[in-house]
Amino acid sequence: MTTGLPTGSLLTHLECPRTGESYDADSLQNLSKVGAPLLARYDLDRCTLKREDLRTAVGSLWRYAPLLPVRNDGNIADLGEGWTPLLKAERLRTHLRTPDLYVKDESVNPTGSFKARGMAVAVARARELGAAELAVGTAGNAGSALAAYAAALGLKAHVAMPDDTPKAFSAECQALGADLALVKGLITDANAHVQIGIREKGWFDVATLREPYRLEGKKTMGYELVEQLDGELPDVILYPTGGGTGLIGMWKAFDEMERIGWIGSRRPRMVSVQSTGCAPIVRAFENGEDHAEMWQNAATSASGLRVPRAIGDFLILDAVRKSGGTAIGVTEDQIHAAWGEIASHTGLMVAPEGAATLAALHELIRTGAVGRDERIVLFNTGSGLKYIEAWFRE
Ligand SMILES: *Cc1c(COP(=O)(O)O)cnc(C)c1O
Repeated sequence: MTTGLPTGSLLTHLECPRTGESYDADSLQNLSKVGAPLLARYDLDRCTLKREDLRTAVGSLWRYAPLLPVRNDGNIADLGEGWTPLLKAERLRTHLRTPDLYVKDESVNPTGSFKARGMAVAVARARELGAAELAVGTAGNAGSALAAYAAALGLKAHVAMPDDTPKAFSAECQALGADLALVKGLITDANAHVQIGIREKGWFDVATLREPYRLEGKKTMGYELVEQLDGELPDVILYPTGGGTGLIGMWKAFDEMERIGWIGSRRPRMVSVQSTGCAPIVRAFENGEDHAEMWQNAATSASGLRVPRAIGDFLILDAVRKSGGTAIGVTEDQIHAAWGEIASHTGLMVAPEGAATLAALHELIRTGAVGRDERIVLFNTGSGLKYIEAWFRE
């Protein structure tokens, strides 16, 4: 990469999922006029990419470059994001008596979480479209990932996060050269904090789903699953949900893959996993609502799940329902117990968000919602090494 050559991107336009209205993809865009996240659309009929062609492709998410928005690879900093292992986790399989279980290990991404996928693409595309200063309110990992790609591409990053975020996140952002603000409150307050700079200084807002391309980076998890399962899909995907970008992204990827002939119409059941300390999606799912109300007094050690209000709530709920999946809350005690359990049976020091998916799987097997013989994928979305305070429950 970074040869200054065309990537072959098939990006055509952006689309508002509420009104269907089109937006120009070749200028900087945030939300649609009605306040919805914009979705990137491609000329999929022209896509000739075959799974078999990818055998010798680059070992990062840029292997899917035609289906990503960046047009010139001179704007890309490939730090090795994506193309993460799909582990058979044999001892966990035996322990749970789930012979077809996998762990998608996102902790090996740059900055130790799958936020690198979204930011690698969003920052490259923002640079391509002329942005110089980028801003995010974050629960932690998104700030680190923004700081990393801004550093690699020579852009300025402005990061705001709650002042009680584990210290590893603030250390990382500082070291990577970001302008860091610690704010009282939650991710929603952190986002409000950077709005001043966005309004008055022209910083570009790269908060979750407020620009179209973090979603594109995260959708590559869906492509990878199909590649790594030799063209097949899992039966069930357990995804720890904060803003929901990964879940919405994979759901989008499945539709794209059907259009380009990689898969058929069958879909995995998407399970949105949250902590009972912050479970707006679970509550909305259970109440049959299309939107999720703001969750009051959100509290969880899994900081990536501490998102009291998600701007893509309707897209998460729609994907979960259409897939025949469910949304489930697990307690902080269940997350903590599952943390050591998954780590000691896999060799992965997972993030508490990843541990939450195992806690949820126990529940779903107990109630019969998931069968032991099904093909199950747990997402470990990040490294547990940033959450030492939570492990010791300080
Ligand atoms: C951000 C984050 C999540 C939630 O991801 P979304 O796609 O925003 O729902 C889960 N786990 C970790 C480690 C995260 O950093």
